[in-house]
Amino acid sequence: MAAGNYMRMWGVEPVMLCNQHLLGEHVEMHMFAGCLRKGMSLKGYYRNKLVCARSIKKRHDELAAEMIARGMKHKSPLEELVLPGDYEYGEIDIEVNIRELSRRCPDCRKQLDSTL
Ligand SMILES: [Zn+2]
Ligand SMILES: [Zn+2]
Repeated sequence: MAAGNYMRMWGVEPVMLCNQHLLGEHVEMHMFAGCLRKGMSLKGYYRNKLVCARSIKKRHDELAAEMIARGMKHKSPLEELVLPGDYEYGEIDIEVNIRELSRRCPDCRKQLDSTL
């Protein structure tokens, strides 16, 4: 995670991410899961549409599958998260994320621009 950037679930097709963003988002899914297990609030992330707590496990598994497809090692399975029924989950805006990633990262931009 680059200094000054918040953790973020990009949510775009994993195949579109450059290696750096693929690995980065994968680590951040583990960090989000760790926060939730410790009972920390992700409200600030929800407010900025940076994560959907309900999707963390699914997203982690998609990213891990893409890592393996690229010949990377993945040795950090993520256990299912159990959240209370009335839990606020948050949501992400994939259109915004595609634009933001494309703006930030020339390597991601190459793949993402075709989807804009
Ligand atoms: Zn993992
Ligand atoms: Zn990138």
